[in-house]
Amino acid sequence: MNAVEAARYYFNQAADHMGLSQNMRKLMLTPKREVKVQIPMEMDNGEIGTFIGYRVQHDDARGPMKGGLRFHPEVDADEVVTLAQLMTWKTAVVNIPYGGAKGGIAVDISQLSRGELERITRRFIDNIHDMIGPDKDIPAPDMGTNAQVMAWAVNQYEKYHGFSPACITGKPLELHGSEGREEATGRGVVIVTDAVLKKLKRTLAGSTVALQGFGNVGSFTARFLYESGAKVVAITDVAGGVRNPQGLDIPSLLRWSADHKGVTGFPGAEAITNDELLRCEAEILIPAALGGVITENVARDMRARVVIEAANNPTRAEADEILQKRDVVVVPDILANAGGVTVSYFEWVQNRQHFRWDLPRVRQELERVMVDSFDRVWNIAQEKHVSLRTAAYIIGIGRVGRATVLGGI
Ligand code: GLU
Repeated sequence: MNAVEAARYYFNQAADHMGLSQNMRKLMLTPKREVKVQIPMEMDNGEIGTFIGYRVQHDDARGPMKGGLRFHPEVDADEVVTLAQLMTWKTAVVNIPYGGAKGGIAVDISQLSRGELERITRRFIDNIHDMIGPDKDIPAPDMGTNAQVMAWAVNQYEKYHGFSPACITGKPLELHGSEGREEATGRGVVIVTDAVLKKLKRTLAGSTVALQGFGNVGSFTARFLYESGAKVVAITDVAGGVRNPQGLDIPSLLRWSADHKGVTGFPGAEAITNDELLRCEAEILIPAALGGVITENVARDMRARVVIEAANNPTRAEADEILQKRDVVVVPDILANAGGVTVSYFEWVQNRQHFRWDLPRVRQELERVMVDSFDRVWNIAQEKHVSLRTAAYIIGIGRVGRATVLGGI
């Protein structure tokens, strides 16, 4: 199954439990709007570069549509549709007043200069500025984008529409960003990891974790795990990985990775490949990078008994069935990584009220949202004897479905 089929498969598993009609399924799965644009721009060498950008607005029954902008060579129409749909269920699972959207550009940012990255961002916003906005669709960072990219994006949007910081979230603090937004996804991941371990009568302190990815999500996840006393025994990034069964010294690894542009070569640890990481000896596996990495083979040989999906769509549908049969507990992406969009919501609220929250308030509200959402998903899973993923979809689809029916068409 490819990613689009997998997303439909997960949706249908929950929809079957709910007895949802075929007509409602079709309505809820069909994106509202899919836009594909040409992005021509001048490269540093004077040549013209032509790129393709996408913005997919999946559903707005519960509010303005919300979702990141991904700059990655593998971005294509199918991927963006799938990720937009995930955003619809994600915002519903954590009950924030948004629908779902996603966008991106098929580009390898490692090949762009800083000036080229700025120009491609601005030209993309030129093409989509009419379809986004604080009450319509609010982009944010995703893979390959960050607060600086959001700063250029908001600046370009404001050239057309005037001051409107709430049109984009994940902005730098100096430009109406929120305290705690950068760390939010990783923090949310650790909050749900703690919550699921408590249900399993275990504790974060002393648990062993293998973590794939050391970008924004992976690095904050590692830091908070370390602070909670968990042992992060293996970490990989795009270039390679490191392993130490005694637990990696995360503060030193963060410094090493910043200085050496990657974790490879970190002293006191052995080298490990991505494939080895997925199967290594650890109680908890956290994929925090690309989609589709937990394949059927990985699901069969994996030693971890708990998977926390910090990445979007990391588990293939066939692999998910194997994990269920093996009684591996999987906390699904639409719950596990929802901390990012939740603090995006706090940023949007602050922008609209022109009132800043301090970091303790952001962290406290995030904790409340994540713990409440986790408990609700856990209870539905127990009650209906379904996986946490199906339970999360039941909640998400239920909320979107009720809003759709109440509003009418
Ligand atoms: N890109 C993140 C996600 O996949 C955050 C989206 C947002 O903050 O709107 O959830």
